Order: sequence, then C-alpha cells, then structure tokens
Amino acid sequence: MEAALAYKIPTWCYSRIANPSLYYFENTLALLEGYGLAGETGCCATASGMAAIHTATEPFLAVDPKRPTAKLNFVATCQVYGGTFQLFSVRRMQERGIECRWVKNSADLEEWAAKIDENTRFLYGELPSNPGQAFFDLAAVARLAHAHELPLIVDSTVATPALLRPLCHGADIVVQSVTKTMTTSGFGIAGALIARKNLTSRFGNDQLKADFAAYVKQLPNRDMGPNLSPMNAILSLNDMRTLRSKIDLFSRSTMQVAEFLAGHPAIERVDYLGLPQHPLHALASRYLFLVDAEHDAEYRRPVNRYGHLMSLRVKGGAEPTRRVFDAFQRIWRATDLGRIKSVATIPAISTHSQQGEEGRCLADIPDNLIRLCVGGEHPDDIIADLDQALRAIDGTVQVAVPAAFSTGGASRELPGPR
Ligand SMILES: *Cc1c(COP(=O)(O)O)cnc(C)c1O
Repeated sequence: MEAALAYKIPTWCYSRIANPSLYYFENTLALLEGYGLAGETGCCATASGMAAIHTATEPFLAVDPKRPTAKLNFVATCQVYGGTFQLFSVRRMQERGIECRWVKNSADLEEWAAKIDENTRFLYGELPSNPGQAFFDLAAVARLAHAHELPLIVDSTVATPALLRPLCHGADIVVQSVTKTMTTSGFGIAGALIARKNLTSRFGNDQLKADFAAYVKQLPNRDMGPNLSPMNAILSLNDMRTLRSKIDLFSRSTMQVAEFLAGHPAIERVDYLGLPQHPLHALASRYLFLVDAEHDAEYRRPVNRYGHLMSLRVKGGAEPTRRVFDAFQRIWRATDLGRIKSVATIPAISTHSQQGEEGRCLADIPDNLIRLCVGGEHPDDIIADLDQALRAIDGTVQVAVPAAFSTGGASRELPGPR
C-alpha cells in the first residue's frame, strides 16, 4: 500500500486515484487522440467537460515564485462553449484577475500573435466551435504557440477523434466533453484531457511537462477531486465503440439537412463547414477527415466529413425563431449535442444565456440562431420536420401543447405511481 500510494506500482487501492474502469477509459482515449501521432500521449478523465477544461488550464495559471506579482494572461478564441466563456471571463478574469485575451477572428493568425506577451501562459481554442462553426489553422497556431514556448490547448468536442486529432497537428493538450458525442446515448457525464508527453511550456516543473496527464491525475486532481466515477467511464466506453460509424452517418445526414436549409427562403444564413460556400470550408477541409476512410472498403480514399453540428438563422429575428423552434415535432429541444436523436437549441436563451448580450455579440450568437445537431434518424424525416416548423414562422400555424403541460391540473395528467 505504501508503494502504491506513492505511485511506485500500479494499484486499485482507492478509486479517486486509480480504478480499472478509469484506467481502461483513459488509455482508450489516449490511443484515440494519439492515433497517427509519432509520440506518446496520456489521458486524465474528469467528471465533466468543464472539469476537463478547468483541469487542463489551471496548472498553467499558478503563481511563479520568481515573479509573484506578474499579472498573468492567456489567449483564447471568443467563440467557445458558454460554460468555457463563463469559466474564463467570470471565474478567472473577474474573480481572480487573470486576464483572458479574446481572439475575435480565430482564422486571423496576426490577431493571435498580437495578444501574446511575456505573461501569457497558454493559447486556447475550440474548433469547430459550438455553435458558430469557427475554425482556425491548427498547425499554424500550434507553431505560433511553440515559438513563444507556450502550450496550445484545444477543445475538440464537436469533431471527436473520429474526424480530427489536434495532437497530430501540434496541439499540446486536447479537452473533450465526453458527455456529448462520445457518449451518444446521453447516459453519462464525463470529460477528459489528453496530452502529448513532453509538451511545450515555458512555465511549470519538469514533471508537468514530461507527462501532463499523469501529473494532473496524480497531484492537482487527487487534491481537488474533479474525478470521473467508474460507472460513467463504463457507459461512455460502451458508446465509444461505435463512434466512427455514427460520426460518418451523422455527418452525411447533416450535409443533406444543411443543403436543404441553405436553399430555404425563410432562412437568413446557414453555418456548416461542409457547405462549399462557407468561408471556412477550404480551411476545415484540410483538417476534418473521417478516420481511416482510405482503409475502408466503401471509400478507399481520404474522405472529408464535417460532423453533426450546424446552425441556422431564421429571417425576422427572435420571435419567428422561437415559433419555428416551438413547432419542432421530431427534433428534440435540448441543450445537448451529439445524441442519436436530433436535438436543437436557441443558444441565446440556453447554452449562451449567462454571457449576456455583449458576450454573445462578441461571439456572434444572435437571438435568431438555432443550433441543430443531426442524429441517426433518416435525414428526410429531419428535413420534413424543419420544413413544417418553418411554416409556423408567421404565427398562423398553431403549435399543439401536450395536455399534461397545459394550464390547470397538470400534475393529475402526468403518469406516476398510484
Ligand atoms: C458541453 C461542452 C462542454 C462542457 O462539457 P460538460 O460535459 O457539459 O461539462 C465543453 N465544450 C464543448 C464544446 C461543449 O459542447
């Protein structure tokens, strides 16, 4: 026990520190994100995606004993998941005075470069971003980070390793909300960070740089405890077995749905990286490939796939957008993504509501934007649902409210124990 708890021998003596299900889960993710990479990778599982983002960034924001009064900063794309926006702007900036320097146009390398100085600790980017589909030149940003001896941390939740492995393009750490696409069933909550061994950072001790995942698992997370429960690791692993084929199916269906919406008269704009007219299509096409398509009997060549997340903007503003949203009959209204069932949300009133009007303006999330994640249904059914919902736009179509939710005696209508 003494040797085990000093990390000298592998052990399962306490589940917050080491557990066989977590060990299997972490090593699977390390292999998936490291597939195609010459070097080695490590993984640390966390209780959620947000815990992974916190865990991946926090060690770089420690006080430097040699310069204890330095005012730290980090550089991040402003088009990030709403929770990440709050973590960076409220918890880090407002509450701790650590400056987050937002990059507004992440495809502009000059803008990244201009924000770095001697107190910068890391660069952070999300791609493709949720919900806006921002994308940047991963390899170029990684080169920029390394030229300043900084790590690049990437949230790759939307792509998953089935489409993109950022470590292979130079990123140092990848964070995943495994809650999402990796756990398609929606039965688990989980996160993970996957790091290359011997990462680049001008800050931090040798142990941190040599094996970041093992470092955070054995030290900060042992003490702070944002660790994954083994049951969630098992649920996630079960879903991950079919990740590649699901991503392929979802991507092909999303492409059809995006094409339908792009030609619809009630739609102001569609953002999907797969659409050839999207301004970032060419850049994204250099990075997003269905893994191993060249070895696939069906494809036999590299195949671009752009994932299941897209956004649409309804003409006429917030009111007609809500009417369309309320009229969905097959698409589920949920802030979730990556499910086997199609889900949609209005980010301005859900995932991105806390960041306020100004924050949404910065990230380009207007109130007429609907985020849609296409699942495993037949794409014709999703298109038909969108088509009928878009007819509700002028308010002449009545949306049926289920009896159980209408006013008066609702609780009596709901099924329950008798
Ligand atoms: C949902 C999400 C997160 C946060 O993950 P949780 O598991 O909900 O904590 C982080 N990044 C992206 C891109 C997400 O979609």
